[in-house]
Amino acid sequence: MDNCLFCKIISGKIDAQKVYEDDLLIGINDINPQAPTHILIIPKKHCATIMEIEEADQNSIGSIYIAIQKIARNRRIAESGFRVVVNCNLDAGQSVFHIHFHLLGGRVMEWPPG
Ligand code: AMP
Ligand code: ZN
Repeated sequence: MDNCLFCKIISGKIDAQKVYEDDLLIGINDINPQAPTHILIIPKKHCATIMEIEEADQNSIGSIYIAIQKIARNRRIAESGFRVVVNCNLDAGQSVFHIHFHLLGGRVMEWPPG
């Protein structure tokens, strides 16, 4: 997608701090971190929101959780705990319309979220 920030990061047109990559997705440090670890896991295939995920995407969405396990172990937050957040549309605060999973850890989280 020409006008999509995360597609530009995936294609290398815009720089980002990449911390993970496999065939289906990348992980980058969030530019405005909300926790000591705040990584965005972004599927390489453009998809605007959760609502656009299709049956054919099931494998790639499942693989996100395998990547999250690897990153969490690597960051040593697997045991202490972490949170995975996906914002969908405006009420949830989604600001980049290319689906991404926030992996937040390294501090105690509050509930409910604001
Ligand atoms: P959301 O509000 O759920 O759509 O999350 C978008 C996230 O992307 C926010 O946490 C932003 O801080 C982050 N973000 C925006 N631009 C960049 C960028 N160029 N590199 C890394 N993270 C970014
Ligand atoms: Zn995109």
